Amino acid sequence: MFDVIIIGAGIIGCATAYQLSQFKLKVLLLDKENDVSLGASCANTAIIHGGYDPDPATLMGKYNVKGAKRCIELVDALDIKFKKSGTLIIALAENDLKTLDKYYNRGLLNGVEGMAMLDGEEARKREPNLSEAVIGALWVPESGVINPWEFTIAMAEVAVREGVKLELNQKVVDIEKNTDHYLVKTETNQFRTKYVVNAAGVYSDKIHNMVAEPAFTIKPTRGQYFLLDRSAGETIKTIIFPCATEFTKGILVSPTIHDNILVGPDAEVISDPEDTSTTGEALAFIAKQARKSVPCLDFRNNIRNYSGIRANSDYNDFFIKISTPKFLDLAAIKSPGLTCAPIIAEEGIKLLAEEGLELNKKANWDGTRKIIRFKEIPKAERADFIEKNPEYGRIICRCEHITEGEIIAAIRRGLPIFSLDAVKRRAGSGLGRCQGGFCGPRVQEIIARETGISPLDILLNKTGSYILVDRTKNTEK
Ligand SMILES: Cc1cc2nc3c(=O)[nH]c(=O)nc-3n(C[C@H](O)[C@H](O)[C@H](O)COP(=O)(O)OP(=O)(O)OC[C@H]3O[C@@H](n4cnc5c(N)ncnc54)[C@H](O)[C@@H]3O)c2cc1C
Repeated sequence: MFDVIIIGAGIIGCATAYQLSQFKLKVLLLDKENDVSLGASCANTAIIHGGYDPDPATLMGKYNVKGAKRCIELVDALDIKFKKSGTLIIALAENDLKTLDKYYNRGLLNGVEGMAMLDGEEARKREPNLSEAVIGALWVPESGVINPWEFTIAMAEVAVREGVKLELNQKVVDIEKNTDHYLVKTETNQFRTKYVVNAAGVYSDKIHNMVAEPAFTIKPTRGQYFLLDRSAGETIKTIIFPCATEFTKGILVSPTIHDNILVGPDAEVISDPEDTSTTGEALAFIAKQARKSVPCLDFRNNIRNYSGIRANSDYNDFFIKISTPKFLDLAAIKSPGLTCAPIIAEEGIKLLAEEGLELNKKANWDGTRKIIRFKEIPKAERADFIEKNPEYGRIICRCEHITEGEIIAAIRRGLPIFSLDAVKRRAGSGLGRCQGGFCGPRVQEIIARETGISPLDILLNKTGSYILVDRTKNTEK
């Protein structure tokens, strides 16, 4: 019998597991995929939002500024990266100036600090590549970019190290409500628990409906992106947003934590929440819109396109409630869900405590994590370091300068590894210009050696994405 089962290992489930791991509780984190952070928490815009945009009457408005502060505290504790780039929301037409006023006033109500209204010239002084058509901008300094999957994985790694059990490849298909417990049924297993947390992202309405009356419907909304090579990274240093529409915050141009440029996303309601394809039509629209803000963008620098699926819903806010006794919904977590994740987890745990969950702290809980990034070791110290740790002397990913030591450390940090992309998300190998074309086979060999999984069974990413079929030559003869 578990005390708490969390369904969904995106940033919301992992933040909840991380925070619950400080208490003397038996916690199980379940996900249908073969890694944590394979839903929206992997494919999004990666911004820790300033908080100028959400309606102050919503939970999104109430949590944004507090959430951003908590994220930045966690950056140090979890040894992840954050770049405080600030945000410029630009006006391209007279009407947009009214929208900027609205954002400014909302920002004040939401507690955003340091905002300033700029005219077009002042905005271009900050970002010389902004369009001449920009007539004004709202400057929001307290915002920046993070690596969303690194954030999610880091919390999962600490949670597992501190006693949370993680079960992957476990799709929840039904939940049975009994007098003193829930029986959570997956395709291959069943687990008993006193409390359930629903953090299932685009499927959170389906999980909710297994135990409670329907209360909201998810409208999966796809957003597509361009990722431009680091050689374009000097184009802008600040997150550039146009004024938002009803469905999206608009097509932005943003620096990334790895010094690339990200452009997107559009917003398209789709019927299949698994459809993360990209389309020429949407990408052409994105490129056209983005050039209105930053005309010199050169899309020949594109190294990757991808899309993420938002858990937008007809509820129009985060759905955070005890929906039936001892069942907590952390559902319909759309943007700014990444920014708000630590607060959503904290508020959720308070609701569980009100339902009777006993929160007794462990004496020796450690919520921190430290990792080695070889390229950050000062040059003068590298030779000594390699002498003691020779595996850090072998570069595997040449685009990103990732060593064998970092890959081995990532594989050994406690979460199961089944794919090249799982290593990419942890160590950064394959993130560069060649997108893993050169280092992929070597990473595959290291995974096979470290985990004992046959190279034939090592995947590119999700279940079924096999890379190798068989030997091309039978060398054993
Ligand atoms: C295009 C886009 C841009 C965004 N940009 C930003 C931004 O810049 N800043 C910001 O703050 N927020 C942003 N967001 C929002 C943010 O990414 C999400 O709010 C956040 O990632 C939601 O996390 P989650 O854990 O609820 O969902 P997810 O990350 O989707 O996790 C849900 C998990 O549940 C699992 N699951 C689902 N069903 C089952 C089942 N039946 N059994 C077991 N497991 C199941 C899934 O496999 C998945 O791992 C953006 C979102 C998108 C899509």
